[in-house]
Amino acid sequence: MGTADLARAGEGGGIPDTASGRALAAFPRLVAFDLDETLAPLKEPAPVATTSRLAWLLTLVDVCVLSGAAFEQFEWQLLRPLAAQEGLLGRLHLMPTCGTRYYRRRDGEWSLVHADELTEPERARVRAVLATSARELGLWEPVSYGERIEDRGTQVTFSALGQQAPYASKKAWDPDGRRRAALVERVRAALPGFEVRANGYTSVDVTRAGADKGQAIRRLISLLGLTRDEVLFIGDRLDPAGIDYPVYLAGVTCLPVTSWEQTVAVMDGLLDWHRDPACCPLAARFVRLAV
Ligand SMILES: [Mg+2]
Repeated sequence: MGTADLARAGEGGGIPDTASGRALAAFPRLVAFDLDETLAPLKEPAPVATTSRLAWLLTLVDVCVLSGAAFEQFEWQLLRPLAAQEGLLGRLHLMPTCGTRYYRRRDGEWSLVHADELTEPERARVRAVLATSARELGLWEPVSYGERIEDRGTQVTFSALGQQAPYASKKAWDPDGRRRAALVERVRAALPGFEVRANGYTSVDVTRAGADKGQAIRRLISLLGLTRDEVLFIGDRLDPAGIDYPVYLAGVTCLPVTSWEQTVAVMDGLLDWHRDPACCPLAARFVRLAV
């Protein structure tokens, strides 16, 4: 099956064909995942179905989890449910806040390798612009579940209903994405030199310009001495407006999913492929996902 077939499969399933036009010739040496809605339901712990397959994947290749979420969310959402042998955790690369922080396992603990911190004056300015813009657009909700603006050091995140809002409320707040798009446009105009992106169902993330998942994956590829052809990325927001799209722009093979259940199917496809490299079932599995 060639890349044209993969692209056609993408068209049929509403999956962006831009993300499916590239296919790996050999089993990947690095498999990277988004977290929310890819390895786990939104803001819920990763189910055993994905963590058990992740543990298996770590026995074969390096694995990266690259998310807009903070490291604290990685801890309860992914690391606690993940039962992998200590020796294998050395192959796990954690990139929270869009890769502006990078953690590796050292001496039984997660250790920060690098962080692209925003300065305090930069963060104060971003917080002020987010609050003013949200108020001007009528997006400053009277009730919030937790902080509306979260300062993550390398990233400042606005969540319209607060970080701890119920899932159903979040999903209903901006179903067509127009509210976040208006906020992104206004904040972007006020903050040249910063990256401004919609994320999740109610959030807008601000980082320093260029600090996105594409930069993060390019850095990791270089650090590990790999080429982009040896990397596979799986994420639920590979549409051109999505937070995962810069990974596709970095030239990495990307598989779009719409839920962690689809990620399980992709991981099973990888398992089959590793067992029998000749059958290349990843392509076949992808077609099945797209139907
Ligand atoms: Mg996601």
